[in-house]
Amino acid sequence: MSKRGILTVISGFSGSGKGTVVKELVKKYGYVVSVSATTRAPRTGEREGIEYFFVSREDFEAKISENGFLEHAEFVGNYYGTPAKYVDEMLDAGKDVILEIEVNGGLQVRESRPDTVMIFMVPPSADELKSRLINRGTEDMDKINKRLARAYEETEYIDKYDYIVINEDIAECTDSIHSIILNEKKKIRYNNELKSSIINDYKRFERR
Ligand code: 5GP
Repeated sequence: MSKRGILTVISGFSGSGKGTVVKELVKKYGYVVSVSATTRAPRTGEREGIEYFFVSREDFEAKISENGFLEHAEFVGNYYGTPAKYVDEMLDAGKDVILEIEVNGGLQVRESRPDTVMIFMVPPSADELKSRLINRGTEDMDKINKRLARAYEETEYIDKYDYIVINEDIAECTDSIHSIILNEKKKIRYNNELKSSIINDYKRFERR
């Protein structure tokens, strides 16, 4: 049986470029990314089941009551949640899974799965964040201001994460997250078989 995969949460301000970096992690290194459910309306170009599963509030609430989410949270007026089943199936199959989620959800995952690697991503500066959100052109100024205010509120959560990465360059940021996860895999608790085989190998030198 293959080893269980590693679960990583990537959070960070809306507009920090998390989405782009996560796509690169999938493309370049083969990570599995969980597709969330949301009650927000699709943006132009977003496809059902690819970026999100777009659902009604009623359906979302029904799934909450069935314990169908690994975590869920409300973000700027909409629900977002991670379907539990898919994530567990992938981890059981030995795949390393990434959740690109906001901070409240991130903390819920850490509570229920303390082994989760928690990464917080920030853009190079607050000004840069503002211009990225404006240039994205997907939200009006009112929504952009809400997202910026929310970014400030989220700074309070940085301490709850293990790692902070600055997304100045997509390729660099992608590689840096990949190396964090590779290092995680070297922890002794994920290498019990290796540990046992080392002990066995050296046993013949035992002092008599
Ligand atoms: P957006 O509307 O820009 O796609 O996402 C808004 C925020 O919701 C982002 O910070 C994104 O990471 C977060 N988000 C996306 N999916 C989930 C989810 O399943 N759970 C939680 N808690 N947050 C999510």
